[in-house]
Amino acid sequence: MQLSSTSRTTLRRHSERGQADRAELYAVLDAGLVCHLGVVKDGVPVVLPTAYGRDGDTLYLHGSSANGAFAAAAGQPACVTVTHLDGLVCARSVFSHSVNYRSAVVFGTATITTDDAERMHALEIVTNHLIPGRWAAARKPTKKEMAATAVLSLSLEEASVKIRTGGPADDEEDLGLDVWAGVLPMAVTFGEPEPDGEGIPIPRHIRERVSGGWTGATIRSEKS
Ligand SMILES: Cc1cc2nc3c(=O)[nH]c(=O)nc-3n(C[C@H](O)[C@H](O)[C@H](O)COP(=O)(O)OP(=O)(O)OC[C@H]3O[C@@H](n4cnc5c(N)ncnc54)[C@H](O)[C@@H]3O)c2cc1C
Repeated sequence: MQLSSTSRTTLRRHSERGQADRAELYAVLDAGLVCHLGVVKDGVPVVLPTAYGRDGDTLYLHGSSANGAFAAAAGQPACVTVTHLDGLVCARSVFSHSVNYRSAVVFGTATITTDDAERMHALEIVTNHLIPGRWAAARKPTKKEMAATAVLSLSLEEASVKIRTGGPADDEEDLGLDVWAGVLPMAVTFGEPEPDGEGIPIPRHIRERVSGGWTGATIRSEKS
């Protein structure tokens, strides 16, 4: 399915880096760990990082029920971005330096979820987004903890994706300069797990998160 192109989501610069396929949006969102929520609070734009998760075409964010940005966002236009930095692109000229990236921008009306079942489902989505299989392994939220938690949802209907790959794009006349040029690749990796206490072996979902070998089967097998 294609991403909708609206007046807000139409790229102006380097439109060739825009992705029309909705699957690209899902890929960028599913690979991210942190999003940035932009809302107007008391007449001033504020952009805050939060965890998130995706269920189909719904994005879920969670936070404290005292979260001021969530309160300001309720029923209002919001913008959420997710960015992956894949490399620093060194050109021969300072002007042509760039970065390789995958990024998504989502526009929508933020909704504070009030249905208890949906709220619990959203927290499972967010938890498993960070560490697939973690929801089944950890104690579930109590009523008191749920009361202290706000869930914000946003439709993925209006979104754009932009991806840059490849090396520097120097001007022809700069190619002979005695300046190193190329790409410094970058990636987010997990370190060795650091146990809090002793005696409990590192579970499979943690090991698989570290190795990047997670598959949907992890959640199913750890549930059983
Ligand atoms: C890690 C990173 C670093 C960047 N550094 C710079 C920088 O230093 N300077 C700079 O000018 N640009 C930078 N960009 C690109 C920047 O995000 C914009 O794409 C760029 O400024 C041109 O935007 P525009 O004029 O086409 O978009 P605008 O007209 O400002 O935006 C129109 C619409 O295009 C879509 N859009 C624009 N950019 C993106 C995007 N990156 N991802 C998804 N959708 C997008 C949005 O829906 C937006 O509402 C960076 C991007 C990333 C991911």
